[in-house]
Amino acid sequence: MIQCDNLVKIYKTADLEVVALQGLDLHVEEGELMAIIGNSGSGKSTLLNMLGGLDRPSAGKLIVDGKDMLKATELDLVRYKRETVGFVWQNNARNLIPYLTALQNVELPMLLKGRRRRMLAMELLEAVGLAHRAHNRLQQLSGGEQQRVAIAIALANRPKLLLADEPTGSVDTKMANQILDLFRELNRTYGLTVVIVTHDPLLAKKVDRVVAIRDGKTSSEMIRRKSYAEELAELEASAGEGREG
Ligand code: ADP
Ligand code: MG
Repeated sequence: MIQCDNLVKIYKTADLEVVALQGLDLHVEEGELMAIIGNSGSGKSTLLNMLGGLDRPSAGKLIVDGKDMLKATELDLVRYKRETVGFVWQNNARNLIPYLTALQNVELPMLLKGRRRRMLAMELLEAVGLAHRAHNRLQQLSGGEQQRVAIAIALANRPKLLLADEPTGSVDTKMANQILDLFRELNRTYGLTVVIVTHDPLLAKKVDRVVAIRDGKTSSEMIRRKSYAEELAELEASAGEGREG
């Protein structure tokens, strides 16, 4: 899903250059649920913006879902953002409208019309475990529930890759855990590849793999569990052997 080699990002302002990524390597398989951790200023958001096609790398190699992000045209990037990725930010819920219901908030950005839109919005709320709150106004929902509405919206284009920048930054530990459980469920249910960027090492317990970055470079790989996708592939392979034998 993600092949990133020796990636460099330099921000140029009038009087200085900031090297935000200095030769970062990262490989992510399809169906992985992973976290990237690192201190503030280590380049996490910069990396996520490159992965999401929101900004362009300065040098190196970055291929996401077969797309070369250094060579992509503007149109390629627009299409990529619309078709391939979903974004979740720390303050996503702030972009929601408090006096509309959860369902209306999910329906609003959709380009579909009428019944189809309502059905899809309801499915998305179901996917994030909020169907029972569909008709409550957003302002009646807890912070964690509001963040789940934002996640439902991020899923509306059926992305292959979900990118989350400090998604639990503004909620308490209990809610943070619920949001992480949701990411895990979406990963398991839909095979969604999830990359979570965070400075919270506690999140590491909930994901398949944790990669640490420091000063714009990959510094270590801390946890490596088999991803669900790998487990499924192994199961299928052994079932295949069973049939042949
Ligand atoms: P993190 O998300 O890990 O806190 P960032 O990716 O936001 O780190 O920032 C990495 C470095 O790049 C920091 O030194 C930051 O000040 C700098 N930086 C980020 N965005 C910009 C920008 N748009 N212009 C200039 N410098 C930036
Ligand atoms: Mg950041």
